[in-house]
Amino acid sequence: LFITIEGPDGAGKSSLVKRLVTAIQSETTQSLVVTREPGGSDIAEEIRELLLNPTHTNMDARTEALLLAAGRRQHVVEKIRPALEEGQIVLCDRFVDSSIAYQGQARGIGIEEVKAINEFAIEGLKPNVTLFLDVVAEVGLNRIKDKQSNRTQDRLELEEITFHEEVRKGYHALIKQEPDRFIVVDASQSEDEVFTEAWSHIQKEIHK
Ligand code: C5P
Repeated sequence: LFITIEGPDGAGKSSLVKRLVTAIQSETTQSLVVTREPGGSDIAEEIRELLLNPTHTNMDARTEALLLAAGRRQHVVEKIRPALEEGQIVLCDRFVDSSIAYQGQARGIGIEEVKAINEFAIEGLKPNVTLFLDVVAEVGLNRIKDKQSNRTQDRLELEEITFHEEVRKGYHALIKQEPDRFIVVDASQSEDEVFTEAWSHIQKEIHK
């Protein structure tokens, strides 16, 4: 079972992942691999560092998309695919949909273009289910500001309202294309409510 979690910045993915891990582990004896993108393997984590390096303000959108796809390739080959082949549950914070929303839509490369380079990287691997945490820009960005982390200082100038809204628009286009894969959760709700809603769906997936 391959589960991915998606959403714009400030949607609450990290907190949800933590709670889902605990819930999944007490629900089943199946082993669980928790991972994330950008990153997830040594090589891909190095690529993440490069991508998130705040001094690289001139990184071209296609360069960014290719680096993300390269990291993803390594992550899939080294970690995700072997785990799935062994029958483990894989819970991944971001996957291809992020590239499509951020680079394809928000950075303007185009959804189909980004899909194509990712297809090269993943060779057909698809999540069984994708939780999408839906939140409008004002709410998402304010949550990030409230946290005052270093990362936000790096990214906030880029991730302004319009960028965030474009990311969200990218996700919504994907949901239209593949409505059966996505579970859309209103992420403006409280952490508890988001978890309860997400978990009711994931629990069913585990017992399918
Ligand atoms: O999800 P996480 O917070 O770990 O993502 C790290 C950063 O990378 C975020 O600021 C996110 O906006 C950015 N990102 C991106 N393009 C992607 C995936 C993540 O710009 N395809």
